[in-house]
Amino acid sequence: MKIRFWGVRGSIPAPGPETIRYGGNTSCVSVHTRSGGLVIIDMGTGLMHLGDELLAGPFGAGAGSATILLSHAHWDHIQGLGFFGPVFVPGNSFAVWGPGGSSEVLEEILEGQMDPNFSPLQTLKNFSARFDVQAMRLGVPLTAEGLTITAREHPHGATTALAFRITERGEPGEPGEASRTFVYASDVGQPTAGGPDPDAVAFYRGADVLLHDATYLPADQATRRNRGFSSYEDAAAAAVAAGVGRLVTFHYDQDYSDDDVDELVAGCRRALDGRGGAAIGLVPAREGDELEI
Ligand SMILES: [Zn+2]
Repeated sequence: MKIRFWGVRGSIPAPGPETIRYGGNTSCVSVHTRSGGLVIIDMGTGLMHLGDELLAGPFGAGAGSATILLSHAHWDHIQGLGFFGPVFVPGNSFAVWGPGGSSEVLEEILEGQMDPNFSPLQTLKNFSARFDVQAMRLGVPLTAEGLTITAREHPHGATTALAFRITERGEPGEPGEASRTFVYASDVGQPTAGGPDPDAVAFYRGADVLLHDATYLPADQATRRNRGFSSYEDAAAAAVAAGVGRLVTFHYDQDYSDDDVDELVAGCRRALDGRGGAAIGLVPAREGDELEI
C-alpha cells in the first residue's frame, strides 16, 4: 500500500505562511494498492488536489473507479467533495462507504451539503460519475480494491466517527509478513481518565501503521475536551498499547503553526519513548508526503 497525505489539518482549512510545511488542507488520505486499486479516506479540502492529480490519469478519461471511506460528515471531512474533479467526468465510478447506520441516511447527509443554500451543485445527482453511497456495517468486513476493510465506531464529541482497519494480503510466496495493515483513526474522543479504550486498542492491534489524530498538545486538550479529539499523549498511548509498527500524527488543530506542530511531534516522540514505545516509528503527516507499507 502506498499512502499519501492530501490534507492533515483538523476542523477548518488553515492556509498561510505559518502552516506551509505541514499544510492547511483538511482531512484526506489516499491509499494506492499494489494491484492498482484506489481507496480515498475522507473528503476534506485536500480531496480537491487529489482530484487534480487523478484527472491526469484514467479518471480524466472517464475510466477511473475508487472506493471512498468516510469517517464522519463534519465539514472538515466532506468539504472537498463538490470540488473533486473526477465526479464530473462521465464514466468514472465511486463507491462511498460511511457512517449513518443506513445508506439512505448517509446519502441524505451528503445531499444536505449540496443544498442550493450551501452549494451551486444543488444535488449529488448533478455528478456525472456514478456515486453510490452505502452505510458501512460495523464489524462486517468489506472487500474492496483487493483489500479487507473493517470499521469501528468511536466517540467524537457529541457524535461518533468511524475508524478503518485496512489489510492488504502479501504476494503469494512473498517472504516475511503475509499481510500489511493500515489503521485510520481520526477525531477520536477520549475519556477524562483511564487510558485508551481497550476495544480501540484491540482494533488497532499489531497494525503496521496506525494513523491517529493528535489534534492537540495535552494542555490545549484539557480546555477543549468536549470537542472530541485526541492529544499526542492519547495517540502515543494507543500506539504503545496496540503494539503498532509506526504511528502517524494527523488532524492538527487549525490554530497550530508549523512550529507548534514541531513541538507536538517532539512531545509525541517523548511520550512513545516514555511509555516503552521506543521501537515505534513516528511519522508526522505532512501534506504531499507518501508512506509505503
Ligand atoms: Zn475532523
